[in-house]
Amino acid sequence: MGKVLVLNASYEPLNITNWKRAVILLLKGKAEQLEHYENFIYPTFPFPSVIRLRHYVKVPYKDIPLTRRNILERDRHSCQYCGYRGDQLTLDHILPRSRGGADSWENLVTACVRCNIKKGNRTPKEAHMPLHKSPRKPYSSLHFEIVKCTKDNLNHEWRKYVIGI
Ligand SMILES: [Zn+2]
Repeated sequence: MGKVLVLNASYEPLNITNWKRAVILLLKGKAEQLEHYENFIYPTFPFPSVIRLRHYVKVPYKDIPLTRRNILERDRHSCQYCGYRGDQLTLDHILPRSRGGADSWENLVTACVRCNIKKGNRTPKEAHMPLHKSPRKPYSSLHFEIVKCTKDNLNHEWRKYVIGI
């Protein structure tokens, strides 16, 4: 039990908080509860899952850092060439670094050691190794966090409020 999706007054996802902070917002009347878990904090008060703020707040833009961990997470820890999942994963530059390929969301993908070696210093086209999907930067830091929190059908009631997951 723990994560709570906070929606803005406009119903757009705003952030993810923990249940204690969510309960404080509910008790202070600053938010309303839209979805809850089946467990109860006390008999008339279930653990919140999705809450909505009563007043609109402006959201500061938060960029998502380009890190190995985030790329693996974006690619769901699977090789983008053969679909392998496991711990033998590396990062592959689609256009090799030696040929001017950049470190970017669009040029880095998760690849297993075998595919990375097989592809070598070639592009996917040259190596006849098409990518399962073309990589892109995640929509937003929050969207990325929501995807993580809803995998394996966790927090499935969040899906009603989030586009594109
Ligand atoms: Zn592979």
